Parts: sequence; C-alpha cells; structure tokens
Amino acid sequence: MEARLVIWLISALVVFSNGQRFKSDRHNLPLNDLILLSDRAFEERSFTSFRLPNTSVPTQYMLELDTNVHLNQFTYSGKVQIQLTTLQATNQIVLHSSGSTINKLQLYNANQLPLALNEYIVDEERQFLIINVKETLPANANYRLLIEFTNQLRNDLTGFYQSSYQAEDGTTKYIAVTQFEASFARSAFPCYDEPWIRATFEISISCGLSYKATSNMPFAAIAIQPDQKKLTRFRVTPRMPTYLVAFMVTDFVSKRVILKEPTSLTMEIFARSSAIDELDLGLQKGVDAIRAIERYFDITYDLPKLDQAAIPSFMFGAMENWGLVKYAERYLLYNDNTSSNWDKEAIVATITHELVHQFFGNLVTPKWWTDIFLNEGFATLYEYQISAEIEPSIRYEELIAVEAVQTALYVDSRPSTRPLSHYVETDLMSVFDIIAYQKGGSVLRMMKHALGESTFQNGLRRYLRDNQHSAVDPNDLFESLQSAAKEDAAIPQTTTVGAIMSPWVYESGYPLVTVSWTPTSGEVVFRQQHFSDGTPDSRTWWVPISFRLSSQPVSDETETRVWIPQGTLQVAVSLDIPSDEYLLVNPHQTGYYRVNYDGELWGKLIDKLMADHDAIPAVSRSQLIDDSLKLAMGGQVEVEVTFELLKYLKNEEDYIPWYTALASDNLQFINKALLVDEVAYGALKAFVGSLMEHLIITLGFEERSSEPHEHQQFRAMAIEWGCRMGYDRCRTGAHQLMMEDLEGSQLLPSYIKQSIYCGGLMDATQEEFVAVFNAYQRSTDLSERAMYISALGCSENKQFLIDFLVIVLGAGQEISLRSGEALQIVRSVYSRTNIGHEAFQAWLEQFNDLILSSSIGRQADFHAILADVENRKANFGNFAQLITLLKAWKDQTEGGVISK
Ligand SMILES: [Zn+2]
Repeated sequence: MEARLVIWLISALVVFSNGQRFKSDRHNLPLNDLILLSDRAFEERSFTSFRLPNTSVPTQYMLELDTNVHLNQFTYSGKVQIQLTTLQATNQIVLHSSGSTINKLQLYNANQLPLALNEYIVDEERQFLIINVKETLPANANYRLLIEFTNQLRNDLTGFYQSSYQAEDGTTKYIAVTQFEASFARSAFPCYDEPWIRATFEISISCGLSYKATSNMPFAAIAIQPDQKKLTRFRVTPRMPTYLVAFMVTDFVSKRVILKEPTSLTMEIFARSSAIDELDLGLQKGVDAIRAIERYFDITYDLPKLDQAAIPSFMFGAMENWGLVKYAERYLLYNDNTSSNWDKEAIVATITHELVHQFFGNLVTPKWWTDIFLNEGFATLYEYQISAEIEPSIRYEELIAVEAVQTALYVDSRPSTRPLSHYVETDLMSVFDIIAYQKGGSVLRMMKHALGESTFQNGLRRYLRDNQHSAVDPNDLFESLQSAAKEDAAIPQTTTVGAIMSPWVYESGYPLVTVSWTPTSGEVVFRQQHFSDGTPDSRTWWVPISFRLSSQPVSDETETRVWIPQGTLQVAVSLDIPSDEYLLVNPHQTGYYRVNYDGELWGKLIDKLMADHDAIPAVSRSQLIDDSLKLAMGGQVEVEVTFELLKYLKNEEDYIPWYTALASDNLQFINKALLVDEVAYGALKAFVGSLMEHLIITLGFEERSSEPHEHQQFRAMAIEWGCRMGYDRCRTGAHQLMMEDLEGSQLLPSYIKQSIYCGGLMDATQEEFVAVFNAYQRSTDLSERAMYISALGCSENKQFLIDFLVIVLGAGQEISLRSGEALQIVRSVYSRTNIGHEAFQAWLEQFNDLILSSSIGRQADFHAILADVENRKANFGNFAQLITLLKAWKDQTEGGVISK
C-alpha cells in the first residue's frame, strides 16, 4: 500500500502507509504525531493464539457474490466453496470469518459426500470460524467446504465497503469496493486470511445492469439473470494470498490501452464519469511504469490485464491488488488546469510504487507481516528510482534522500523505534510505518550502492525468479543477493550479504560514523557508535564507507571504499587531504547513517559551502544540514559549527537543502522551541529571515514558464517562511496578492494560496482579517476551509488571534464550525509564532473555566496540545547556546540585514 502511508490519522493529513505510498511530508507531519506514531506502533506482543492452527490449507476458492448497491442497498449475499487439504490429522477446520451471518455450512469429502459436523463456532475476538467435525480427518486428504452467508457492505473503508460520490446532477451515487490488506478479506467472506497461504480464486459477482463488476482477472462470461441483474464470472486467478484479492461494483467510466510489445497487456483506468478527462496521466504513467519495471527486473507481468481505479473514499494512498490497483482519487486523477506540480509528483510516484508491488508483494510475498519491509522497502526504493526514469523532470533520485532517508533516520533514533523485521500478531497495521517504508527503502538503497547497481539488480532478478508465486523471509533475499555478490566479488570474502544485512534488518537503530584526521600521520579514522536520542548502546553494524576527495577521484563516488565490520569500532585509512580540499563522507547520502567530523574537517566543509556550495551535491548539502542540526541538538557537535554551517544558506537557491533545513524536525522544531520567548524568537527570525532574503527575491511570487518542476512547492514554502521570519518585502508582496484574490481581480492558484494568505495576513488590518474570516465561513469545501484556518493563524495581531480562539468556545450562533475545526483553529494559532503563543496563553488565562467546560476542553487532543506547550517551555533551556549565538549575531548586524 502506499503511505503515503498506513494508517495513521494525522491532524493535517491522513497519512497511510499501507501497500500504498506514504509520502512523508516533513513539513506537514506534526512532530508530536510522528512521535506518537512511532511510540504507538511497537508495543511488544507475546501471545501466539491469533494465528490459524493451519492444520488445513485452501487450494481453490469459488466465490459468488450477489450485490444490490445499484439500488442503494448495502446488504449482500455470498457463497464460497473452498477446496482444502488437511496437513495433519484433525477434527477441526479453522479459518477466518468476521461479520458474516452464516446461513449454511457443509463439508464434503473427495467423493462429494457431506460429512457429519458437531457444530461450528465463531470466535469473535480472534475472528476464527471453527468447524468441529464428528470424525477425525486424516492428513493429506482433500475436502470441499461450502458456506452460504449474508453480510453488509462496511462503512469504515475496510473489507467490502460502500463508497459514494456526488454525481454531476447532484445525486449521491453509491459503489461497492474492497480494501483487504492487511486482514480485512475475512470480513468480506470466510477465508484463510494469512499472507503465506496462496490459493486460486474464481469469483462471480451479480450487480445491477447499469453497474459493472471488476476484479483481479478479466471476465470470462457475462450473463443477464432472470431477476434483471448481470452476473459477471471472472477468470481464475493465479495462486495468491487473500489480502490481494479485489473487486468492485461501480458505475465508473474508463479509458483503456492494449499493449502488444514485448508482451500483450490490457491496461484500463476507471473513475467516476465527471473525472473522465483526468485519466490520461495515470494511464500513460501506468504503461511507462510497468514496462520500466519489467525491463529493470527482466521479468514479465503475467496477468492478462492491469487495471487502475480512482476510489472516492479510500483509506490509504493506494493498494496494489493484483491486476486491480486502487487509489485515493488525489493519487490518480490529474487535471491539467487545476492540479499542482506536487499532485503530479505524487501521482507518478504512487503509481510506480503500486506497480513495483505487482512483483514485490504480489509475485513474491513475505511469509508474515513481520517482514512487510520486503514489500514496502522495495516499493519505496523503486518508487523513486523508476519514477525518475519515467518522469525525468522530477528529481526523485534526490527526493528519496530528504523524504525517505532523513525521515527514517529521525524516527529510527528514538528509543521507541523497532527493527525492520518485527513480529506482530494482532495490531497488524502497526508495522505499516516509517520503519517498513522509509527505513526499508533506505537500507535497501544502501545495499544497492554497497554491492553496486548491477550486482544488486542481478540478485533481485534471481530473488524474483527463484521465489515467484511463493512466500519468503529475509534469508531468501540474502541468499539471492549473496550469489550475485559472490559472482561479482562485490563484498569482502570474509563476510556474506546475510552477515552484512542482518544487523540492519534484525536490530533497530543505526550508527553514527565519526571521521577524524591526523594531518601529521596522514591518517583518517572512521569510528562507529550507535546513534540514539536516548541512551546509545554498544551495538555495531557492517558500515559501508564511501567518500569524496577530489584529489582521489573515482568514477562512482557512492562506491564502498572501506567497510567498518560489525564488532569493529573503527578503521583507519591513509589519506592526504591538501589544504584547499575537503573530505565528504557518504556522498549523496546513500549510506543509512549519520556522519560527524572533527573540527578541522567540519571547517573545511563549511569553507567550501561558503565559497562554492554548488561544488557539493545538493543531497549532501541537505545531509550536512540535517546531520549537523541533529548532532548539535544531541550535544555531539559544538553549536557554533552548526550555526556557521547554516550561514551558507544565504546563497542557497536549491529546493533540496531548503526542504531539509525548514523541515518539522529541523528549523521548524527550533522555531517551536524558541517562540516561548520574545527576545530569543526575535533573534531567530532576524537570522533565518536574513538567510531567506536572497531566496525569496530569486523565486519571486509569480510562476515562470520554464522554471524547474519543484519551484511551485519551493515558492509556497519560502513565502510562508520568509514572511513569518519578518522579511518586509515578502509580507507586502503577499498582502497585495491576497487582496487581489479576495477582491476577485486576480485569483491565486490553489497550490500557493495558503502561503500567500498566511504572509498577507501577518500585518493585515482588522477589516482584512474579518474579510478572510468571512471567506472561511462562506466556504463549503473542507480543504479550502482548512486552508483559511491555517492562514488566519498567521496573523501577528494578538487580539485578532484571541478573538479567533474564542470562537472555538461556541460563541455566536452565526459562526459555523465543522467537525474538527475547533482543534484546527487552536493548532493554527498556538504553535507557529511567538505572538500566537502569547495569544494562546492569554486565551487560556482569560477563559480558563469556559474552556474546561467546553467540548474542546474535554478532548484528549486538546490536552495533548496543553502538554506540548508545557514541553516547549521546558525544552527552551536546551537551546541556551544557540540563543546566545543568535542574539550576538543580531546585535552585530543590528537587524540591518532585514530589508525595509
Ligand atoms: Zn506499498
């Protein structure tokens, strides 16, 4: 799935990482939620009883469903016949079922004679259907289990569920769709719902004549029934796990392309009829992606068709069901006039992610959810790599470092992190997280560079070929990579791929590599130690060290120059570093670790950044910012080093380093910590504002026809930050554009509207503030309302903000708040500026009793905000050194850097 992630409700966005793409946006991912997410995910489980006993396994399913969603009726009836084999003598058949009412149940032997049953039991907690047979069934015997049942389409986006959309004539149309990963197939029909179990499925669906049934396979036959419904019977699937089964009953329209060379394949894309003009990009990129994936892995997608469907309500970003991939609409539908560049970027990446799963996940499946990184890690890695191939205008190969590697490094340094391989039994969705996706992709990317692209590629081709149509664990991957590595002599003879990868897969966390240079001996020492926000321990890893030294050039500077073996704390290398040179370790951040340097080596890097930053790759600049900030916050490097390094940003015009600098875990984190104190916050604003001045002038407010793809989102990010940091020309420019948009004389594109309104509202008059507030109240579009709320919180007038907060207490009948908007308002005010913080405190003090007795005052999320404010105050003291530097800098420059 795509997580764009899994599973988790995050205030600003729903981030789901399931089989879907989880695009982690480090600018919108609230830090606290990120922490909660990782903390929540990894409670240890000890019981084992939620696994099927597996005394029998299915070989074939014949599933018939009768639906009435075309009549807006949500009950359905079904009949499933399961051919099964006993693996040992038993008098119980145990499979999964949840929510179905069973009307008939019969077990037949190989001669089609019914067997006498004692009873069957539905174990609600474990979602087991336990069938007790009067006689003991011998091992290795075949049976047919017949179950007739009725059920309701669910309304929680899981299992077989109802979705709806508004048709162009204003009527509500209902459709029925599935989402089975991880364990929701059992709620649609009784089945053996574990990922290692593969069986064939022959599915038939009856629906209204104006609707169409679609499933994993093409239809084999369609018949009109006496009841004036249409019965569609689909061809038999390959052997596959239940979580990849999919079907839907819709009145969607579609576009189709039939590919001939090198193999024949029909690709069709489905959506509601009003989106018929938004399907071309998805269809074309689907074609491009599947062909690129087939070439890279030298393998053929061997189902006859590959459909993609845009679902109006979908829990995840997308889901890779074999032959019928489903997407949330925003990750598939592209409108030439209204979609943003970011939309396109996410659509291409999501499609690629899901199509990589057609092999990593569908063809080869992990034995259990423990190793879901074998699906999601590969889908993440190749989502970026293959997307870069099919859409070269987007810098995916660099974005993987800032979106995936750095996000994973951040989460994986928390004490609550977990290993990539992690057993779960009940809370299955908890492993669809940043570790499975972003760390999985990052560790596999490191191995790709450590072994070399062609060795890694050969190993993966072997892995897919040798394990196709079966279930795997990490050892199967190690073996395939080992045989390729051995052929190419890609790793030291003293070790194996399994030995190298094991600590990365079976241990949590990662190392910090510290580099020190002794000029007199000409020796560079690389030392490893566990990097943790908590207490580092003595664990070690096999660490591939790559570096750049321009006097010692290599054709591929990501290649491993030296390994630090597991169990070894340091290795030394003879290196001459001339006085005008710098040593850059882990260029392009291909290794999954942080790097610290001694003072002299940091100094050389900073000198280079100040003099000629473009000489260092953008990802490495971004990585130096990220590592130095994290090391400074952890007390592992002098704050002065980081402070001096950040100064080079005044010349930086590239999105990649700025993305990292302004991320929630970097300057945004510091912004939140310092805003409790007006003087400290003023010094931060002056400093960061001065760094951004040149950038804002360069990017401007208007889009240019030939500018790079990422400049849309870059401009939006820079304007919001530059204005907040007090840069006057930013505020006046934003204010003018906001007024033109409000008056309707020049409408803003949606991608930048929030940033412009945020900047424009900072110094707005009461009349202007009220005008925007009224626009918010008039809007009926939830995402537009959220945009206005976020922008209103940018005001730097304390009284306006207090008045804004007062409305969450329910004052004034004419003010309408939708569900969740009260919390959105509080969040937009309390966490972004010093004035917002003061307004929040004043509101708390003034209305304390009213708040506590109001509905918001009783919400757990509100109490989490109160705790966050207290943490922030406590955290302030940790930034004493930085504040001293900022104040000294401000005093020296007398604030004269900020343009007036
Ligand atoms: Zn996925």
